[in-house]
Amino acid sequence: MRQLIRDVPDFPEPGVVFKDITPLLADHAAFTEVVSALADAGRDADGTVVVDKVAGMEARGFILAAPVALALGTGFVPVRKAGKLPGATHAVSYALEYGEATLEVHRDSIDPGDRVLLVDDVLATGGTADATRRLVELCGGTVHAFAVLMELSFLSGRDAIDGLPLHSLQTV
Ligand code: 5GP
Repeated sequence: MRQLIRDVPDFPEPGVVFKDITPLLADHAAFTEVVSALADAGRDADGTVVVDKVAGMEARGFILAAPVALALGTGFVPVRKAGKLPGATHAVSYALEYGEATLEVHRDSIDPGDRVLLVDDVLATGGTADATRRLVELCGGTVHAFAVLMELSFLSGRDAIDGLPLHSLQTV
């Protein structure tokens, strides 16, 4: 799997080595394996599904979270950048290296008491995951776990998600 995630130096800006997952997505066997492994984060040890919704973060999180939701037999919830969702939303802003970002979720997409699995491609600093957890909680749900294809451990995102169970398929 690792060779299907490509390092792209100096993208999106000089000094950053971007993990490009598009070769993996283009490989049916690898994509299938990854979706199945991420979906395991929504099951208990007996294989019983223990989540009510799967939330994916814009944009690459959508690509992984939607098939994970189908695999688990749950609905899918898109977590979007500010201004993209047409209905009533909750919004959470968080700090970036330069400036800040805002994520939103439809208020009626998660019911009070829903257990939610978060799915994204990469955990870097953890700001996206932490903001998404806060959005789920604003809706009255709880986050069961965060499933991610790749954890960039040198950015210490694990510390930023404050004890949220992390299921990472790869750590670099
Ligand atoms: P964080 O909020 O943890 O710093 O960044 C994670 C978010 O940024 C994820 O939604 C992920 O898609 C994106 N991201 C950050 N770095 C990379 C990278 O190297 N490769 C990919 N594919 N996404 C990244």
